[in-house]
Amino acid sequence: MEINCPKSGANDIRKNGCRRGKQNYQCKNCGRQFINSYSVRGYPKEVKKSCLTMYLNGNGFRAIERITNVNHNTVIRWVKEVGQRIPDDNNDSIPLVAQLDELQTFIGKKK
Ligand SMILES: [Zn+2]
Repeated sequence: MEINCPKSGANDIRKNGCRRGKQNYQCKNCGRQFINSYSVRGYPKEVKKSCLTMYLNGNGFRAIERITNVNHNTVIRWVKEVGQRIPDDNNDSIPLVAQLDELQTFIGKKK
């Protein structure tokens, strides 16, 4: 079971019943309670970044999904996020900025 505590990062986790049909867990290390979907839905920054980079390098969403195993809908959502938030504070995002217009046009058409 690949579950880590969102607070302490410990993987000493025990099941703690169900909440709204989702498995609830409790960290034995710090006592933090959380549901499984937390760790399933959240991708590391690196994964998000590489997906966006692949997109900007001309890869389709389906191709990105095949390579990274990230659902294409998730990638589309990320692209949309980046398109809406001009990343002034992120030095690594300069290549993204140049293509934001294209990006937004694309998302607009899809909607
Ligand atoms: Zn913990």
